[in-house]
Amino acid sequence: KMNTDLGQHILKNPGVASAIVQKANLKQSDHVLEVGPGTGNLTVLILKAAKRVTTVEMDPRMAAEVTKRVQGTPEAARLKVLLGDVIKTELPHFDVCISNTPYQISSPLVFKLLSLPTPPRTCILMFQLEFAMRLFAKPGDKLYSRLSVNAQMWAKISHVMKVGRNNFNPPPQVESSVVRIEPKFPRPQISYEEWDGMLRIAFVRKNRTLRAAFLGTSAVLDMLVANYRLWCAQNDIPVDDSPMDVEQDEPEGMEVDQAEEEEWNGFDDDVDDELPDFFKEIQAQKKKGSNRKKKGRINELVREKVRKVLEDETKLADKRARLCDEGDFLKLLYAFNQDGIHFS
Ligand code: SAM
Repeated sequence: KMNTDLGQHILKNPGVASAIVQKANLKQSDHVLEVGPGTGNLTVLILKAAKRVTTVEMDPRMAAEVTKRVQGTPEAARLKVLLGDVIKTELPHFDVCISNTPYQISSPLVFKLLSLPTPPRTCILMFQLEFAMRLFAKPGDKLYSRLSVNAQMWAKISHVMKVGRNNFNPPPQVESSVVRIEPKFPRPQISYEEWDGMLRIAFVRKNRTLRAAFLGTSAVLDMLVANYRLWCAQNDIPVDDSPMDVEQDEPEGMEVDQAEEEEWNGFDDDVDDELPDFFKEIQAQKKKGSNRKKKGRINELVREKVRKVLEDETKLADKRARLCDEGDFLKLLYAFNQDGIHFS
């Protein structure tokens, strides 16, 4: 009767459940968010250690079950059960997040937690072992991805414990791991949207050079031009929109240097390496043939700014995203922004 499409693997080992709650170092004054309470094995333990608990549960049967479990007890008044998808739910402020996470939402959940305007003090989350390893991965590691850079930019990540499959009912296919995510405080003073927008471009193919990522596709350039226009308008900078003398051959959409791609025989199985939306939009426009307008001088200008940042200012043009660390990306974003190049 468990719905494994919803990642329903109930934690049946009470020892593991209490270890998870203990690792959260809860204070009696804390408001805790629990994602996916299921039958409430963790919820009842959290209620003992914290002031208030808000849970978000997608399955109405489970939401009913956890509600019933505390009904008639003094704890009932301190528990709020929200029915819905946590990714789409507007969350109240909370101090700590605890979750035996449904694995299919691991990535969006981490991004949601990291981008909250006032992030929690700490998160204790159970993930698939491989996903947990992606959170800690360092440049050059096989599992290094946009997720790794982002997680480590905004938070301190540490491993808490491994949890074998047999602690769950039904047992999942894979081993699990509990991690602690402590959002940095104060928050790094950069815009999340800018940072992540830049990383999305860099990591579309993580073995591509940054030059190929930022200059090799007209879709990226078109987006940077649109953002540059906006930035100029906001800062009262006139833009030169006259057409170019010579019409340049723009590369078609997502075409990549083949040789460069083939040289890499590692894997590219990152769940978060999806095409950013602007690629999809521009590709769709191209199909419709509505993107035929002549490029103005502003395109040349933006291309030159991007080239200058990559080649002259940061010297990162030949480096591949999978080898760049947080510091490289920070330097890059700073240089781009200095030159009026924006990603959101
Ligand atoms: N916390 C319980 C435990 O540890 O025994 C259950 C954990 S089970 C791995 C994941 C729970 O998350 C399930 O109850 C499932 O219905 C719920 N769930 C799945 N997707 C969800 C989503 N998008 N938003 C909120 N809850 C979700």
